[in-house]
Amino acid sequence: MFTIKSDHELSEAGYEKIIEWMRSVLPEGNKLKENFYAVKSMMKPLGLGYQEIDICPNFYMLYYLENAELTECMTCGHSRYKPRTGKGKTLVTYKKLRYFPVTPRLQRLFMSPRTAEHMTWHQSHDAVDGVMVHPSNGET
Ligand SMILES: [Zn+2]
Repeated sequence: MFTIKSDHELSEAGYEKIIEWMRSVLPEGNKLKENFYAVKSMMKPLGLGYQEIDICPNFYMLYYLENAELTECMTCGHSRYKPRTGKGKTLVTYKKLRYFPVTPRLQRLFMSPRTAEHMTWHQSHDAVDGVMVHPSNGET
């Protein structure tokens, strides 16, 4: 269901309406998560999560590591946050970068023996000398 949401750019509200309908037709005691937030929470330990990093709307810098606390771009001077529209509202950034760390994704691929076999094909595949094949055992 999460994949369908993503593939068809389904809104969170649309996703939750479908989940609500599915829960109404499924038998009592089903394990379908009740909303999008619950699904996201379930997916995070699987390594499908991402890190959000605030960035300059003109793409000059990341508000990351030693620059994490800055509120204006060091190059163009653009503000990091949109002007507050109401009293007590939280700060909203102009632009965010979504960083998908590669290590947990690779670890997830190696969790399944079937996908791990595909991931190690280049190492385990034997090429026959003199026959043009995919260069599975070359140094590069
Ligand atoms: Zn900037």
